[in-house]
Amino acid sequence: MTLTILFAAGDGDFAEYAPHLNAALSEAQLEAEIVTEALPASVDFIIYAPANPLRDFSPFTRCKAVLSLWAGVERIVGNPTLTQPLARMVDPALTKGMVEYVTGHVLRYHLGIDTHIHARPGDWVHAPPPLASARVVGFLGLGALGQACAEALSYLGFQVIGWSRSPKTLPRVICHHGDAGLQTVLEQSDILVTLLPRTPETENLLDAHRFAWCRPGLCLINPGRGALIEDAALIEALDAGAVQHATLDVFRTEPLPKDHPFWHHPKVTVTPHIAAATRAETAAQVIVENIIRVQRGEPLLHAVCRARGY
Ligand code: NAP
Repeated sequence: MTLTILFAAGDGDFAEYAPHLNAALSEAQLEAEIVTEALPASVDFIIYAPANPLRDFSPFTRCKAVLSLWAGVERIVGNPTLTQPLARMVDPALTKGMVEYVTGHVLRYHLGIDTHIHARPGDWVHAPPPLASARVVGFLGLGALGQACAEALSYLGFQVIGWSRSPKTLPRVICHHGDAGLQTVLEQSDILVTLLPRTPETENLLDAHRFAWCRPGLCLINPGRGALIEDAALIEALDAGAVQHATLDVFRTEPLPKDHPFWHHPKVTVTPHIAAATRAETAAQVIVENIIRVQRGEPLLHAVCRARGY
């Protein structure tokens, strides 16, 4: 029987994804048709991104799984009409992109690159930076992305520590969990990278109280979600010098409004949600692998837990 796969993402996405999805489906010898419109009761799988207007999943009575093109699922996980299993995106190319973004921005802080970019003629201060082994990089979030970035930085020689909801043991990373673990990571990190999902528990995690725990002069990199940080508390911490500089890729409102203080703050670098994108070629493989698994009665890869919200 031919499977009907509804592609419900952004307007321009179908043209980019369809050839890769079709190639992966035919390689897997799965008979399937990918469509952008279908009778809901005829749909077997939905490939989804919130850029699509689809919000009511209840008519999709035959649908066996909703496969997100996005790693972050906060805009869909609480949808009460979504009773089908949901998988988030873990795309090896997206992960590589995040490793490159985080490594680049950590090295910017570690090497003090801005000092040299902004140097005036005659600014000859011979002060070589310390080696990476003298610097602690902390990760809030040790999931698919946090772990890959932590591993890359540990290979560069940084001391890497991290924090997650559940206890973990990872090579070359000192792992913490719980409230005490969060305080330890904030107290010890010279550079902090936030790669947590947005959930009710992580919203406003970095507030004035938590900024007070941070090592003075902390540099912050947030490619996770804007809502992890209380904007006003960060600006206060930057103004007070408690946080030296912040590189922010994600915001409560995107695009970041032109008049938002982050655009104008001298200690903030704004990047426009470009840290890591899902890449059609590799994501198509992940999606088709999940379709195969469901067809075989095997559990979904990267299944979202609704109770946890990620
Ligand atoms: P993931 O694999 O689900 O990992 C999430 C990590 O956060 C896990 O280590 C989890 O702990 C931890 N966590 C969740 N809730 C927590 C809590 N209340 N307290 C402590 N730790 C908690 O997610 P991922 O694939 O690494 O992605 C992380 C986030 O990156 C996404 O949700 C998305 O928001 C963001 N993202 C941004 C971009 C971009 O371009 N800027 C691109 C992709 C993704 P456990 O390990 O114990 O479960």
